[in-house]
Amino acid sequence: MSTVDHAAGREQSTGVAHAVLASTADLPAPWAAICGVSVDVVQGKWNGPRGLGSSAPCPECRRIAES
Ligand SMILES: [Zn+2]
Repeated sequence: MSTVDHAAGREQSTGVAHAVLASTADLPAPWAAICGVSVDVVQGKWNGPRGLGSSAPCPECRRIAES
């Protein structure tokens, strides 16, 4: 299990949740997910209900965050 801290980001147009490095989540928008997609909002932890626990977590982000 990864101990790298990721925040949960969301791409508004698709509703897909992406992982954003926590170190960049504190910066102003726009944010880039670890898969390269730009996200519109950052809300909570990637490990939480808005990230992996959401209905549509990005499979690419999941793979990168867990590797
Ligand atoms: Zn992604």
